[in-house]
Amino acid sequence: MKRITILGATGSIGQNTLDLIGRAPEEYEVVALTGGQNIDRLAADARRFGARLAVTADPSRLSDLRTALSGSGIEAAAGPEALCEAARRPADWVMSAIVGAAGLAPGLEALEQGATLALANKESMVCAGPLMLEAARRHDARILPVDSEHSAVFQALIGEDSSAVERVIITASGGAFRDWPMEELAHATPEQAATHPNWDMGQRITIDSASMFNKALELIETKEFFGLPADKIEAVVHPESMIHALVGFRDGALMAHVGPPDMRHAIGFALHYPDRKPLPVERLDLVALGQFTFRPACETRWPALRLAREVMAAGGLAGAVFNAAKERALDGFLDRRIGFLQIAEVVEEVLNRLSAHPGHIDADITLDNVTGADHLARVRADDIMNEMRI
Ligand code: NAD
Ligand code: MG
Repeated sequence: MKRITILGATGSIGQNTLDLIGRAPEEYEVVALTGGQNIDRLAADARRFGARLAVTADPSRLSDLRTALSGSGIEAAAGPEALCEAARRPADWVMSAIVGAAGLAPGLEALEQGATLALANKESMVCAGPLMLEAARRHDARILPVDSEHSAVFQALIGEDSSAVERVIITASGGAFRDWPMEELAHATPEQAATHPNWDMGQRITIDSASMFNKALELIETKEFFGLPADKIEAVVHPESMIHALVGFRDGALMAHVGPPDMRHAIGFALHYPDRKPLPVERLDLVALGQFTFRPACETRWPALRLAREVMAAGGLAGAVFNAAKERALDGFLDRRIGFLQIAEVVEEVLNRLSAHPGHIDADITLDNVTGADHLARVRADDIMNEMRI
């Protein structure tokens, strides 16, 4: 039996993971499930899968969780330290599917106990890629990518000589505003941004797809995960979301990974790795699809992509600052404190202000430094959003 923990079990990736596990429950033992505000979902899944521990991120919801689990014998806990405790419980496979930088510390804990970490939480790689890889190396643990593009690259590289890789191309759907005129973007609302043409995902990543911050994070994630120089990594808009990534080799060949936009493929690949087992995803009818199209990923339309290049060039804590500023600016957009186009303006301004002070970005990537940079970037983002309102 494979011992499984799911960090972020109540979210979109977490629920897709449980969908796969629920199809063969006899093969898995669920150690811990974690969630946030959705206590009913967390408790129901903990009961259904016989988890030993259920953790909510919010300490003020602990008594609700205890009530929801009463009589089940399932242990309940709450707060950031309890999330780390869940990740530390011995398990063979841990899904990292918390959204945001909050996923970093529990993911590191899972690596430190030697578990295989299925990494949906791209923010961990963006903020602290070298720390993640070093923890995996030191504890003989493995990190498997779950982001669809990175799973696609990983699969295209199986059996290949990595020194023969000339370029990696990750695809972007273009998000909710792909076909909107530029001048209308300033008035886009959170509700409009939170609809996705192809993928069914959590609210925050869906809005990040509309702003292309998701792709910006993924460019950085590609650099960190596969150890590639930034100039070998490209993004292209592919509205159909059927090709997830392509790897170009020095003989000119491009190996593409093609499949329906269903995260259960990347999750299932990581769950069964190194085996390839049957998965309940649609089989594509290429003739019915007819064609795949591509457009440039324009850095004027999507300044997040330009900022990602700057972050990759800067290195150090730039990724942590970039991500935290984006998380805070996204909060500001969701609270209607700033407009859609101002998300990128806030992030750029935070990067500019922190770059002006030696030591804020050009420092070693330690967990303390990443946490400090994350905090400072959020404070600066709030300052900038307050200035914008005047
Ligand atoms: P989601 O919002 O649907 O779920 C997030 C999960 O994290 C929930 O369980 C929530 O309770 C928990 N959570 C939220 N804030 C938390 C905090 N501060 N501390 C601890 N737990 C917290 O998000 P999602 O779409 O499932 O995405 C999860 C991660 O996977 C993100 O990093 C996202 O970028 C990545 N990802 C998602 C998809 C997708 O299809 N949804 C695809 C690729 C990558
Ligand atoms: Mg992705």
